[in-house]
Amino acid sequence: MRSASFIDDVRARWYRFRLDRSVRALPLELVADSGARADKESSAFRRYARELERYIAVLEDIRRRGPSFVGRFQELRLEKLLRRAAASAYWRSVFERSGVNPGDIRRLADLARIPPVGRTGLIDVPRDASATEKLPDNAVYWMRSSGSTTGTPFIWGSYAWDWPLAVWSYHLRELDARGFSLATSAHRDFLFQINYGGGNAVFQMFFIENFRLRPRGDAAEEDARAIVAAIEEVGPSVLLCNPTELASFLHALDALGRQPPMTGCLLVGQPIEEAFQEHAERLLGCPVIPYYSTMETAAIGAGCRHAPGRYHTYAERVIVEILDDAGRQVADGERGNITVTCLDNLFMPLIRYQPGDVGTLRHRVSCPCGNPNPLLEVEGRSVDVIRFADGSAESVRRVFKLLAADPFLTRIRRMQVRQEELGTLRILLEPRDAILGPAVIRELKKRIDVLYEGKIRVTVEEVREIDPGTKKFKAFVPLAPRTR
Ligand SMILES: [Zn+2]
Repeated sequence: MRSASFIDDVRARWYRFRLDRSVRALPLELVADSGARADKESSAFRRYARELERYIAVLEDIRRRGPSFVGRFQELRLEKLLRRAAASAYWRSVFERSGVNPGDIRRLADLARIPPVGRTGLIDVPRDASATEKLPDNAVYWMRSSGSTTGTPFIWGSYAWDWPLAVWSYHLRELDARGFSLATSAHRDFLFQINYGGGNAVFQMFFIENFRLRPRGDAAEEDARAIVAAIEEVGPSVLLCNPTELASFLHALDALGRQPPMTGCLLVGQPIEEAFQEHAERLLGCPVIPYYSTMETAAIGAGCRHAPGRYHTYAERVIVEILDDAGRQVADGERGNITVTCLDNLFMPLIRYQPGDVGTLRHRVSCPCGNPNPLLEVEGRSVDVIRFADGSAESVRRVFKLLAADPFLTRIRRMQVRQEELGTLRILLEPRDAILGPAVIRELKKRIDVLYEGKIRVTVEEVREIDPGTKKFKAFVPLAPRTR
């Protein structure tokens, strides 16, 4: 890459300092108790909202200066990340094994000297070894991933105080670009999510209310009515959910003939079709913003209006690369393994991390939306559906989410869901240490039967090791096309 001018270099350093200062300025008394709801009249809350606005303004400035400036800013953040990573036993051993002195990595191209790592490479690393310092549990935000794309449930940590700021500043930027103002909305409740399992307490500053929505029939309508009533009570709101939940919500809304006042809908999880997005926007009467994200990295990019199915990466906080199976970078626009270096988690660094998705990345973009950041296309997740005998289909995510619910998550090393024929579902579980035992298996089967209301015959089996069958482990083996 082109070397930055002296002025750009000084400016990029100032921006990095400015973001760090925002983090240090956060009122700890507010963020320390992440289970409590923030008192929005308090001076601590006003300070938090002010710092968040400053943080967002700096991020906007960085993006406006264009790709080569963003690249320089990434290098500076990378330098700091690697310095911190060297304090963790795991990353230190990675650097030693690959003969890398983290201080020598100064350019983005040098990153290639660190080998990529997937989730399977990280699940057996003890948490203390991957952390850069020892902290009490309440100072850490633990992210629990159900492993619906990789079959490996996964727990990863970040600092409890700065992670919500880092994550939410990007969501709020998207909303801001669509006419939402934090300055006028910060003081009131506006953020809702549906069927979101755990981990949401950390966002309580942003007024999260979690709603239950049962999947079908009268129960779904009853739940949807409660959600609509709650939204009507607080006024224009933002909804955060995944596409499966949104589809159920839209279905229930349609049946009720209601439209709650909405400002925006943030969609995480599997990619969506353009037609579904338009349908959702019509029914909700607000923009729908799809994200490419994982639990452990948070948002990697946001969907672009002008490039359906593609995401502009959040280059200010992640370095995204596409690598072939040998770990080499592929040419611009060619497909390969999506590889992410997360620049703002200094507690448990993720460097050249592969969440298990395949995609393409185009660096040279001149998008009509004005965002100069690379465009990422993600493949593969959208085919992960279970097919039912009545012709309907549903994302496999719901069953993974259930399988990974506490207390099972920490006991399962890998899992696989197989649909070998229509009308059946076979679930294989590979335990981590001790066997799960028949009582646990029975209990899981019972829960899954409740989930599908008898629409499909489920078997749950405990196995010593799941035979991957193919070279790459697949968490979900869908129904083969010929049997559909
Ligand atoms: Zn765009």
